[in-house]
Amino acid sequence: MTIGIWVLGDQLNLAQSALASADPAAARVLLVESTSVLQRRAYHRQKLVLVWSAMRHFASELRTAGWRVDLAERESFGAAVRDWIASAGISELRVMEPADRGFREAIEALRLPLPLHWITSNAFLWSREEFAAWAQGYKQLRLELFYREGRRRFGVLMEGEGKNAQPLGGQWNFDAENRKPPPKGLRGPEALWFEPDAITQSVMLKLQRIDQERAESGLPPLPGELEPFRWAVNREQALAVLEHFIVTRLAGFGPFQDAMVSGEPTLWHALLSPYLNLGLLHPLEVIRRLEQAGLQQQVPLAGLEGVIRQILGWREYTHGLYHWFGADYPALNHFGADQPLPQSFEQLGGSGLNCLDSVLEELRSNGYAHHIQRLMVLANYGLIAGLDPQALTAWFHRMFIDGHDWVMQTNVIGMGLFADGGRLASKPYAASGNYINRMSTYCKGCSFDVKQRHGPKACPFNSLYWDFLARHAESLRRNPRMGLVIKQLDKLPAEELDQIRASASNHLQCCAAGR
Ligand SMILES: Cc1cc2nc3c(=O)[nH]c(=O)nc-3n(C[C@H](O)[C@H](O)[C@H](O)COP(=O)(O)OP(=O)(O)OC[C@H]3O[C@@H](n4cnc5c(N)ncnc54)[C@H](O)[C@@H]3O)c2cc1C
Repeated sequence: MTIGIWVLGDQLNLAQSALASADPAAARVLLVESTSVLQRRAYHRQKLVLVWSAMRHFASELRTAGWRVDLAERESFGAAVRDWIASAGISELRVMEPADRGFREAIEALRLPLPLHWITSNAFLWSREEFAAWAQGYKQLRLELFYREGRRRFGVLMEGEGKNAQPLGGQWNFDAENRKPPPKGLRGPEALWFEPDAITQSVMLKLQRIDQERAESGLPPLPGELEPFRWAVNREQALAVLEHFIVTRLAGFGPFQDAMVSGEPTLWHALLSPYLNLGLLHPLEVIRRLEQAGLQQQVPLAGLEGVIRQILGWREYTHGLYHWFGADYPALNHFGADQPLPQSFEQLGGSGLNCLDSVLEELRSNGYAHHIQRLMVLANYGLIAGLDPQALTAWFHRMFIDGHDWVMQTNVIGMGLFADGGRLASKPYAASGNYINRMSTYCKGCSFDVKQRHGPKACPFNSLYWDFLARHAESLRRNPRMGLVIKQLDKLPAEELDQIRASASNHLQCCAAGR
């Protein structure tokens, strides 16, 4: 009788529930590096290196902890699991409930010849059942309510006990202090990066072989640069990134959280999402450590509360909503958007817009862009240009180092594109070039003019923005938070609006023609 535990690539934590359910002496662990995923999605090279290298490192961590571990490099994960079950004499298989819905479906579709037990996940603070119990009490779900409940429930940044507990500093949210535009010459602290070790180098060689095989079969190359690869690949390094964040960035996290600066891809951002999402770090340990260090170092509460809100609030919320909204959510398309993605998205550069190209080029070099670059440049462009939401979600999933279905759906379909009609956000995050000009340094070096709304030199974010408002004026008018901008739209002289819309259409035609 040997219990088999199949650990998926985003479950790389010794305390995860399937491992915790068994005794190392009576169990065997499987990890599968399957290349068949590339038939469905051509992932950024660095994302593949990160996941596979982290799996190999985790396998050796498990062995040190006394587990018998098999790591299979195969094309199909189904064949790998079946062969392992037979050769290792596995009599019962345990898998921690995957965060992404598709994994469970794919594993169930294998119809494996033994009892399969799904072990309730402990990868998040809120279980799906707990989230559902909270959510069903509300007609309209909003982050702020969920976040406050999380603060109370887990006793984070609270003073006082039980029912009398109050938020530290007398306020739940200090976001208003955190939206500063970048002053001239703003530079963030250096990020902590790592040289690839022997394990990572062997995965990078594998990627080169895959690239060569793709070229020989006439398949397009994988996107993104392979080198320099500098991400953390094991728990020890991920913990070092957390500590480095605390020492170099925590105190400054708040004020420039929304700023975008050319040549400064990371600013004060934590760079923790890849490690949280693979399980190398657990969100509760990160929250507790941030709270403890932040209070001890007396860092400004606005920054400390700001980063804790991202993890205890947004991260848990997007995961909870993904399961709460259900399987139909990914197909939503509120605005009926159907434009194909421009070539510059696939090529990760070459749009001619300085903002888009800066972000796409940073993405190409390491698979990362910070939140406001994702929301207000990439997704905002997708929203106002009317890009197909499902194609854009799939693109985000492939290109981002931290992209997983559970976090992508709600962030792209919901927050970025409003394709869910407002189930997540209370209004579309649509913005013209004005916003980008105020919050970034991108417009200065751009060949388009951010002050113009139409004509060949006009910033496409301007023409697309007004065109978006005009296209959807009737439905947007019903949203009280859009009242002010719809009033501005109504005031635009008809002739000017026609010119703006012609510029927008021109831009989209150029994109479609690859110019
Ligand atoms: C269009 C779009 C796509 C996104 N895609 C992803 C994705 O594929 N994977 C991903 O993990 N996050 C995604 N996010 C959320 C967020 O942008 C990233 O978590 C964050 O930029 C990661 O960088 P960081 O670790 O430096 O984060 P910081 O800005 O320093 O924030 C700290 C942590 O808070 C969490 N967090 C912050 N905002 C969110 C959020 N909206 N949803 C979930 N967690 C959040 C992350 O774990 C992050 O590591 C997306 C957001 C948008 C608008």
